[in-house]
Amino acid sequence: MAEPMGSASLAIAKLEADPDPNDQSTALLQPSFATRVFTSRQRACSALVFIVMLIITCVSTASAIAFAFLLFRGPNSGSLRLERARPIQNPTVILVSSDGFRFGYQFKTQTPNIDRLTANGTEAEAGMIPVFPTLTFPNHYSIVTGLYPCSHGIISNGFPYGNDTFTMKSHEPKWWLGEPLWETVTKNGLKAATYFWPGSEVKKGNWDCPPSLCKKYDGSIPFEERVDTVLSYFDLPVSDRPVFMTLYFEDPDHQGHKVGPDDPEITEAISMIDKMMGRLIQGLERKGVFEDVTILMVGDHGMVGTCDKKLIFLEDLAPWIEIPHDWVQSYSPLLSIRPPHGISPSEVVAKMREGLSSGKVKNGMYLKVYLKEDLPERLHYSYSDRIPPIVGLIEEAYKVEQKTSKRQECGGAHGYDNEFFSMRTIFIGHGPQFAKSRKVPSFMNVELYNTVTSILKIQGAPNNGTPSFPSTILLPGTWS
Ligand SMILES: [Zn+2]
Repeated sequence: MAEPMGSASLAIAKLEADPDPNDQSTALLQPSFATRVFTSRQRACSALVFIVMLIITCVSTASAIAFAFLLFRGPNSGSLRLERARPIQNPTVILVSSDGFRFGYQFKTQTPNIDRLTANGTEAEAGMIPVFPTLTFPNHYSIVTGLYPCSHGIISNGFPYGNDTFTMKSHEPKWWLGEPLWETVTKNGLKAATYFWPGSEVKKGNWDCPPSLCKKYDGSIPFEERVDTVLSYFDLPVSDRPVFMTLYFEDPDHQGHKVGPDDPEITEAISMIDKMMGRLIQGLERKGVFEDVTILMVGDHGMVGTCDKKLIFLEDLAPWIEIPHDWVQSYSPLLSIRPPHGISPSEVVAKMREGLSSGKVKNGMYLKVYLKEDLPERLHYSYSDRIPPIVGLIEEAYKVEQKTSKRQECGGAHGYDNEFFSMRTIFIGHGPQFAKSRKVPSFMNVELYNTVTSILKIQGAPNNGTPSFPSTILLPGTWS
């Protein structure tokens, strides 16, 4: 049974061993034809394999280098990195707010100083998300407490409650719930200073707004003076030096309301804010502390133009329900209605919805009214007695008014749903705990409270921020 196979083997062996029957000796010295063919094939294969292996090796090496670069060096990498927080003896945070600094304003003009912070710091790539309503007081107080407005109590810039009314000049502690950062800092035995911030003049816990470190609001004080005062705190002995400071600028919100977000006046205001950031940076550099101090540059909300006659009039709802002026706590962009006792809010909502969806109310489809408990959960705007029972969400850039008027309607507004991109603001973190040239995804401003307490290594109060958030934005080693 083995014979045929043996014959075949012999035949092959013969062919390989006897290529030239005329010259056996030569045949012994020269490779056989088959061997030559086989060897040249083998060489071709080897060369091919070698080239393929070389290509694979090159591609693998290049990929490994690229991966390592992205992982450890890449500015946009949100993952592991070798960079670690630089240990600082007395961590210090300057929290700067530029009111109404809509995300994207920094691209309107040359902003060398803001760019410097961005290039050497960490930026919310698509801006920071404000809380709802996207108004000044609720947002500034959320930034320093980590609480949503329904928890910190400042549910709007002004609102009636009980027999009293909250205004932007109300400094009674009863309005201001939660624990702002200046209170947390002093509670931890450290010093804080506030150069304007909503709520900073309110006496709370250990914080009694000391005159030397807590400035009473006066919008006429030049921005330069505010910056220079904050810089002067670095001349104090370390034991007296505040470790947390706020600095507030009214611009570009002031211009945004007047002319909307796309006017050259905004561009000028942005240039001015950039100059102030430059003044701060250079002042810190002169004192030799710029690289050791943490600067958080934020805004409270964005801005949208309202020049397109996008109006909704409550008087147009009269065929379904009369909404008298004195039921309305605020019109635009936050519509809030408190009907008198004896009138069912749910009936009011039902009738308003009927009118708004009838097609007979001008722009009716751009106003959605809710009982506050039915508002989308993501707005966190239900669980407070201070919030009136009916809340209206207005489409971006629309305005609600009581009745038709000949008033010129052109400017800018904010206060809308915080889902609108136009309501986003900036966030830049620069200092020993922030990676350089890093972009992070957008986040809500209630996350900043835990971020600051982590940088300062102090115990914070319970809040609505995510406990793990600081580890996603600060460099490893911030806590060691
Ligand atoms: Zn504002």
